[in-house]
Amino acid sequence: MPLLADLVAALDSGTLRMVDLSQPLGPDTPVIGLPPIFASSPGVSMEVISHYDEKGPAWYWNTIHMGEHTGTHFDAPVHWVTGKDFPDNRCDTIPPRRFVGPACVIDVTADVAKNEDFLLMPEHLEAWEQRHGKIPRGAWVLLCTGWSTRTDPVKFLNVKEDGAHSPGFHKSTSELLAKDRDVLGVGVETVGTDAGQAGTFDPPFPNHTTMHGNGKFGLASLCNLDQLPPTGAVVIAAPLKIVNGSGSPLRVLAIVPG
Ligand code: MN
Repeated sequence: MPLLADLVAALDSGTLRMVDLSQPLGPDTPVIGLPPIFASSPGVSMEVISHYDEKGPAWYWNTIHMGEHTGTHFDAPVHWVTGKDFPDNRCDTIPPRRFVGPACVIDVTADVAKNEDFLLMPEHLEAWEQRHGKIPRGAWVLLCTGWSTRTDPVKFLNVKEDGAHSPGFHKSTSELLAKDRDVLGVGVETVGTDAGQAGTFDPPFPNHTTMHGNGKFGLASLCNLDQLPPTGAVVIAAPLKIVNGSGSPLRVLAIVPG
């Protein structure tokens, strides 16, 4: 099929580029904190099974242990109570076609530099669409905030006396994207797809509530969004096929015009 041969040739020639939107995953990966009344998710731990030694003279492998929602990761609809009854709502049952879509990248880095609690409003989306065209059905909408440049985990999680402070989506924006634009989901650079203060919103965590309540997905802890054009890239975000999985760490890849 010439289309696929052309794709490989374009990747080889640099006409198209792969951009890795994933953070490294390891014991230093920051994990979201929840109020102590709730159960928390562990960070990454790894132990060596063998390392070319008496436990396995010719092979190296590790055991890994972590929560499903660790590092660069995928949120399936079943992650939220509002999405629990959708068919095909888990990591192992989502049709793979739904892991691939065009990227719409909304750059609000300047706004977030002024206000770390910045929320994307429908007006921001409409202004973006005036310049770049309507967000197509089945798109990944990626919020470029510059947050991934916070390599210090303390600054990345940005927890203060009154909780975490980081940007996100206003409820009305999540509703517009999920219901009207019928996106695949949203992706963010922060530790989760809701704003840091979203536990205090009505409803709490409105982006999770709305996206998953409409069968949509989330991608958290992305990076390199500044390397993507506003439109024209294709994102592939396929979680591990965890049986009944609510989410999974994953490698998020973008194919970008060179
Ligand atoms: Mn998550």
